Amino acid sequence: MSASSDRHSIRPGFAAAIRDVRQRFFQRDPARWPVFSLAPFSDVIAFRARSLPPNEKVEAYPGGRELSERLHALDRVPQRIPGANDPADPLVAFAAALSKNWESPLSVENVATQSSDPAIMGAMLGSLANPNLVHPEYAGMAVELEHAVIRQIASQTGWDPAKATGIFTQGGTFCNLYGYLLGIRKNLPLAREYGLEHGLDYRIINSQGGHYSNTTNLSLLGVNLRRKTIRIRITDDNDMDMADLECQLRACFQLGCVVPTIMLTMGTTDTFAIDQVKPVRDLCDRLCEQYEITAKPHLHVDAAVGWPLIFFLEYDFDRNPLEINEPTLEGLRRNTGRFRELRHADSYTVDFHKWGYVPYTSSLVMIRDRQDLTALEHDPENFTYFEKDTEGQTHLHSTIECSRGGVGMFAAANSLAHLGVEGHQLLVANSLQNANYFRHRLAATPGVMVLAPGNQGPSAGFRLYDPAQVADPDAEFALEYAVNDTPDWLDRVTRNNHYHRQAFLRRGKRTLYTNYVQSAAHTDYDAHGRYRILPGEKAVFMNPLTSFGDIDAFIGRIHG
Ligand SMILES: *Cc1c(COP(=O)(O)O)cnc(C)c1O
Repeated sequence: MSASSDRHSIRPGFAAAIRDVRQRFFQRDPARWPVFSLAPFSDVIAFRARSLPPNEKVEAYPGGRELSERLHALDRVPQRIPGANDPADPLVAFAAALSKNWESPLSVENVATQSSDPAIMGAMLGSLANPNLVHPEYAGMAVELEHAVIRQIASQTGWDPAKATGIFTQGGTFCNLYGYLLGIRKNLPLAREYGLEHGLDYRIINSQGGHYSNTTNLSLLGVNLRRKTIRIRITDDNDMDMADLECQLRACFQLGCVVPTIMLTMGTTDTFAIDQVKPVRDLCDRLCEQYEITAKPHLHVDAAVGWPLIFFLEYDFDRNPLEINEPTLEGLRRNTGRFRELRHADSYTVDFHKWGYVPYTSSLVMIRDRQDLTALEHDPENFTYFEKDTEGQTHLHSTIECSRGGVGMFAAANSLAHLGVEGHQLLVANSLQNANYFRHRLAATPGVMVLAPGNQGPSAGFRLYDPAQVADPDAEFALEYAVNDTPDWLDRVTRNNHYHRQAFLRRGKRTLYTNYVQSAAHTDYDAHGRYRILPGEKAVFMNPLTSFGDIDAFIGRIHG
């Protein structure tokens, strides 16, 4: 092994610790979690553990073809109560067994994972108890559990747990919706009754690198996307361009235009770009002072993917007790520096169902100052439906939803209790060691251009060129990046896209299950301030079971 590969190898202490995490939390081991020994769980688990290629599963399942035909044809509810039979209907068990297999070590398609055993246990308990978090009368002690999870995450962020609050809600998209709404209600209070186009002029600010929910939510809120939304330019690393932000903010404030919310992202889905928060906070403070603006922008951070880095805020990087390897330790140290700034946000998005290994959906919007939620309150007159005495204890008047399930919250609570800070640290570090090893192998492979190599996240993207035509992938990418819409440029990009796409299809789902995405990279800005997106391939290494061997096998047949 070369010296540089050696730096990427897994150190003994780490190997032992991650092996323990896998055995305890990702094996569905009936000795530890007896419920998994019962039918139909045991059968479903056994079938999924075979990790068959997607196109072989129906044939391999007992009676699979017939079940598949029945499932496709089913369109009537059975008339009679069937006699006592299996705990799960055969079609339901069949669908569970053949659902996407996130347990396979090869599953690295996206920011999605299998759930940990304790998280599944928590979800089962939540289902059994079935609290509705909308109101304490319908939730009982579950309300206290929700508060406890929120306090733990607040402390981990560096916030005062007594002052902070949060709401478990429907996915990261809704968390971001809360982020926008908090800013709108705080800074344009009349909007609640009169809508956004009444009163003061405003602009919402987000980043061109943000997740699509940054945009779809605005449309949902009735924000004029073309005229009232400013999408800030991004740097080559895909984080927000601070100079452009300052320029746009100045323009708004100079005209007396309110900026209700600035949406930042810490850990973009495809490239793990991490926006800075402290400089944005300082910039807002400075400009609000200068222009005598009292309606300060609400800073919401979309940390749907990136949030588990908060588990490293107190990690001893010098002593490195978990024996994280050197390249990953360096990257983590840098990323953690950025996440230290998360505490300067007003609110942020947590998706437990991504890098937290919790079943769908388990999302939490964290809010630094619980007072902010009063801005979301609707007139209590609207809530005559509920018992008055207990209303004060909830966010009932402030939440977007009425029914709010407890399953995701129970799952998250049990996961935190079992994994602890150290379990999360090991899982995150393991992901990043894999991602870094992958990038390291890619960089030494002919025809490969690694995208945003400095972004030390779980996702690694690349463009693949035909080595027979492209001797220097970096130079080729530089040509693509320097966008010019001449026929030559277009031909070249089209030729390269075609080669990569065909190699991806030839490989099929035999080694790592990667993903081909249309916007893996972008070109430089042209004279009109626009860029083109460039397709590419990505792998997201959140899977606790993926090994270096799986990565080697992929690299071995990368050209198909
Ligand atoms: C996944 C994701 C979202 C959306 O969250 P959902 O839970 O899928 O609704 C938002 N932002 C980022 C950065 C994401 O990766």
